[in-house]
Amino acid sequence: MTSSGRQLRFASVGDVIRRLDPSYPVFCIFPDLLKERARTFVEGFPGTVLYAVKCNPHPYVLKALNEGGIEHFDTASISEIAKVTEQLPEAHCYFNHPVKGRGALEAAADVYGIKDYVVDHPDELEKLVAIAGTDITVEVRIATPKGKAVYDLSAKFGAAPDDAAELLKRAQGHGCRTALAFHVGSQCLDPAAFRVAMEMARKVADKAGVALEYLDVGGGFPASYKQDVPPLQSYFDTIADAKEKLWAGMPLLGEPGRALVAEGCSVLTQVHLRKGDDLYINDGIYGCLSEIRDGDLDPPVRAIRKQGNVEGPLRPFRVFGPTCDSLDVLKLPFYLPENIREGDWIEFGLMGAYSIGMQTGFNGFITDTIVRIDGMHEEFVS
Ligand SMILES: *Cc1c(COP(=O)(O)O)cnc(C)c1O
Repeated sequence: MTSSGRQLRFASVGDVIRRLDPSYPVFCIFPDLLKERARTFVEGFPGTVLYAVKCNPHPYVLKALNEGGIEHFDTASISEIAKVTEQLPEAHCYFNHPVKGRGALEAAADVYGIKDYVVDHPDELEKLVAIAGTDITVEVRIATPKGKAVYDLSAKFGAAPDDAAELLKRAQGHGCRTALAFHVGSQCLDPAAFRVAMEMARKVADKAGVALEYLDVGGGFPASYKQDVPPLQSYFDTIADAKEKLWAGMPLLGEPGRALVAEGCSVLTQVHLRKGDDLYINDGIYGCLSEIRDGDLDPPVRAIRKQGNVEGPLRPFRVFGPTCDSLDVLKLPFYLPENIREGDWIEFGLMGAYSIGMQTGFNGFITDTIVRIDGMHEEFVS
């Protein structure tokens, strides 16, 4: 994403094709879908909803989520804090990266007045207190077991339970307010992972014996790719039940990223060459499609011509991205109409999460045409 990218409004993806006839990839944002999703979360989650900004920091996305009721943001860098603050001056940002540079801490504390910070190590706590002072809430992040999540987020960050209890005591000793946090892993396919982590957090809290401001249950709520995904409500119910049994009276925070935004965006690509069952398109693993390269996530697709969807029986195609690297290929075959040809467009659905925010610009290919579509999504074919 670049700020110089064109940002335009359309009635549908078909309208984008008719008006732009794009031979370049187009990132499509559906604010109404994002708003609806935000409302579902705000109404269903038994606590305060923070949006995890890294998932998709585009201003249209932040604005739509805010209009859907989200006022709190999980940020990991000064750039993310600045983006949120610029667009939404009333928003409340949390600095939830467990490892922060001293310069970033100074800016967070002095320029942005951030009051909530995650740590997972005593040295980080000392650095934090030395720079941001003690009128802050120190969230101690605990590592959780790798459950049924597609992406483990505890292999890199998170303290073991005993160390977490020590950290809480130490933060309290400094005179800071304290809280606990965890992340069960992204695209977590088992609601029970939240209960297990909340039990773990309970033991840490009991061992530390300090008063907590809140428990932050992190992100990991799944989006409905073609995988079998339990309904969001079952996550909300599991968390509400564990709150009642283990954490009665404790304010909860949640930090969804993927589940809030995946559905609300798509990537419109064009076929530039067909060689048998191989299609060469104009976005790939160094662009918006990086997260789907390994085939762990399987977004829905449809093939489109100016007149509408390409019809006909489907067959599996191998899909190559635009860069000169042989690795720039999607592992999963995509089922597309057997008469697909050069000039047809392929729309990848559920691409709101970890897409435009992860582009590299390698080889000069970047998706910087970002449009908003006012309306609902069209049906995907496979
Ligand atoms: C990435 C991240 C999230 C969002 O995770 P999703 O799986 O996209 O919901 C939330 N909190 C933290 C600390 C993260 O690093």
